[in-house]
Amino acid sequence: MTAPTAKNRELMYERDQFCCAACGLTYQLTHQHRRATGAGGSKERPTLDDSLTLCATCNWKAEADAKFQRLALINGWKVRKWVDDPGLVPVFYSFEQAWYRLEGPRRVWIPAVVALDMMHAVYGEQYLEWRNS
Ligand SMILES: [Zn+2]
Repeated sequence: MTAPTAKNRELMYERDQFCCAACGLTYQLTHQHRRATGAGGSKERPTLDDSLTLCATCNWKAEADAKFQRLALINGWKVRKWVDDPGLVPVFYSFEQAWYRLEGPRRVWIPAVVALDMMHAVYGEQYLEWRNS
């Protein structure tokens, strides 16, 4: 998997308030590639919209723990790899209990109902099934 540029990594940490989006931890922070790139990996460096701050533990769980993976999809920490524009998938920041849409180095607060609309537009009924399972 291709790493982000050092500049983008720094911008990502700043955008995400130097906290793990999933658990709020402020140390052992890592770069999470929101879209899974599969075994072959991607040759392109991830954009900021495709990047999220997760702690080492959450990053590991996002790869290895099926229950966490579902949670990660529901909350936009992970994005299905077929999604062309990860910016269309909003992110739930647990440490603020709030939804944001990513715009590169910025994040824009959105109401939960707007986040639900965005998720539904990308994933369709499948999204509601993830939430209800
Ligand atoms: Zn974490």
